[in-house]
Amino acid sequence: MSDCLFCKIAAGEIPSNKVYEDEQVYVFHDIDPQAPTHFLVIPKAHIVSCGAITAENSAVVAHCFEVISKVTKDLGLTDFRVVSNCGASAGQSVFHLHFHVLAGRDMTWPPG
Ligand code: AMP
Ligand code: ZN
Repeated sequence: MSDCLFCKIAAGEIPSNKVYEDEQVYVFHDIDPQAPTHFLVIPKAHIVSCGAITAENSAVVAHCFEVISKVTKDLGLTDFRVVSNCGASAGQSVFHLHFHVLAGRDMTWPPG
């Protein structure tokens, strides 16, 4: 999608602090970290949110979780939280599917 921040980051058109990349997925540090470790996992394909996942595009979502498992292992993280905000009132501010991975501090439940 031409006017999407995360599409531009995945394409290298806007700089980011990259953690991992493959053909399908891009991983980078959040610009406003909410934990000592806070990175975002995004599909390179534009999907708006969890609410737009279908049988046709869900394979990349499974791949995102394989990447989360690999990257957290590589970083030595055993305890972490994965969050995806879907919709503005749930806290979504960038409308390109992303999974927050947060670690390095105690997490509270329920989230605010
Ligand atoms: P959400 O509010 O769940 O849609 O998450 C969007 C996340 O993107 C927020 O945590 C922002 O801090 C983060 N963010 C926004 N712009 C950038 C950027 N240019 N580079 C890295 N992270 C960003
Ligand atoms: Zn996008």
